[in-house]
Amino acid sequence: MPQTILNYINGEWCRSGAGKFVEVINPATQEVLAQTPLSPPAEVDAAAQAAAAAFPDWRNTPPGDRIQYLFKLKALLDEHIDEISRIITLENGKTFGESKGEMRRAIENVEVACGIPTLMQGDVLEDIARGIDEFMVRQPVGVTASICPFNFPGMIPFWFLPYAVACGNTYIVKPSEKVPLTMQRIFELIEQAGFPPGVINMVNGGADTVNAILDHPTIRAITFVGSTPVARHIYARAAANGKRVQAQGGAKNPTIVLPDADLEMTTKIVADSAFGNAGQRCLATSLVFTVGEARDTFTQAIAEAAQTRVTGFGLDEGVQMGPVISHASKQRIESLIAKGAQEGAEIVVDGRGKTVPGYEKGSFVYPTVLSDLNPQGELIRTEVFGPVLGMVHLNTVDEAIELVNSGQYGNMACLFTSSGAAARKFRHDAQAGNIGINIGVAAPMAYFPFSGWKDSFFGTLHGQGKHAVEFFTQTKVVVERWPREWSREF
Ligand code: NAD
Repeated sequence: MPQTILNYINGEWCRSGAGKFVEVINPATQEVLAQTPLSPPAEVDAAAQAAAAAFPDWRNTPPGDRIQYLFKLKALLDEHIDEISRIITLENGKTFGESKGEMRRAIENVEVACGIPTLMQGDVLEDIARGIDEFMVRQPVGVTASICPFNFPGMIPFWFLPYAVACGNTYIVKPSEKVPLTMQRIFELIEQAGFPPGVINMVNGGADTVNAILDHPTIRAITFVGSTPVARHIYARAAANGKRVQAQGGAKNPTIVLPDADLEMTTKIVADSAFGNAGQRCLATSLVFTVGEARDTFTQAIAEAAQTRVTGFGLDEGVQMGPVISHASKQRIESLIAKGAQEGAEIVVDGRGKTVPGYEKGSFVYPTVLSDLNPQGELIRTEVFGPVLGMVHLNTVDEAIELVNSGQYGNMACLFTSSGAAARKFRHDAQAGNIGINIGVAAPMAYFPFSGWKDSFFGTLHGQGKHAVEFFTQTKVVVERWPREWSREF
């Protein structure tokens, strides 16, 4: 029997009164794992009211006491990491190793948020005028909420949740309706960690549930991670409703390979970046711009890496790449490959129309490499979100940087070289917020902001680290004078 996904409101598990459900499907087998309720606005309202009621006491709980719950949650996540990782693989398709890597990143954010008694401190200056002192404190903003995508069901809520609650806010998360099982299990651990009722809530659903969050007058701050068209919608609608908002969008990440790069290391790292998580990573390399002789050497090496990557069910031993999330996604990816070829690209390795023995129903696309993408075409600018690498061959590093900067997205850009001067120029000039030098997935650690630019990000403060602390607090500045003559002599 497929599991029915529940909401978690005010410390209780609640069956949604939704009239519509979405099937949660194991993409490797097409088995129906669960039904996600598309929760109606009244259930968002119940969560917002519970969070509002819990807020006064939670914000008055000393930061040092608030983080004790996070220490407990970290221990529980560590203890259950294998079990949660298996759930991620079942509902999302990525390999068990990738799922575990994702959960380590989630846990790191809990660890960083446990530093809140230091991170949340304000500033003080005595004697801004004679006998007058001024100080700034950070206070929580109130009820906050996050809307999450399907590709990292365990990690992405944790770019926000630990910081929101450590700072004294109360919180609501809406997981992706495609992969709700991971947070369902994690919320059992949140319950076990003993957070007071209403501090952390979960409402499952789709677009209508999201819009109810965006419009709810009690919710003060919203974070979003997902595709760019939805990010624009979230940013505009939440801001029009007077909320603070950060919205992380899609990507089309370019990597430049110079002829002096270490070929073996570069090929291995770029293959992991392009085909890891079946290319469904907002920091996946989806374009490679080779310079000079790298054209021939790199094309040959990456084609071999693509052909030999082991594709299959993510819980099976030795599998290096799982399926994409759905048949609809597989179809979209395969038609984009065809579009690239129509536009003039050569298909060097074709991953279309293949099946995995034993998993014939799975939504698998094998690693694909295209060469000589049309610079004016659709494939060079459209996010594929699948294991598809497109290449363009250029003569100079300046041309390559220019092509990097002509893209509409700015999530990540990488360079492979042994030249310090080229690296310095690249990191200075490249228009992207996450830069990799001889790195294929430049994912910031939890104590650095996840810094998308351009159409990959709408807002000012990003997820993780100090940015998250700033986002989840409002500053209060106090200027005060205490003349000596007002005080009684003791
Ligand atoms: P998506 O935009 O389809 O969905 C994200 C969330 O928005 C889901 O919770 C969904 O229920 C909700 N949603 C979808 N359509 C909506 C609508 N019309 N109105 C209101 N809410 C709506 O994204 P996805 O397919 O789940 O995730 C993949 C995308 O996320 C890719 O574009 C990827 O690049 C991006 N992503 C970006 C980052 C980043 O850090 N920039 C990280 C991970 C994923």
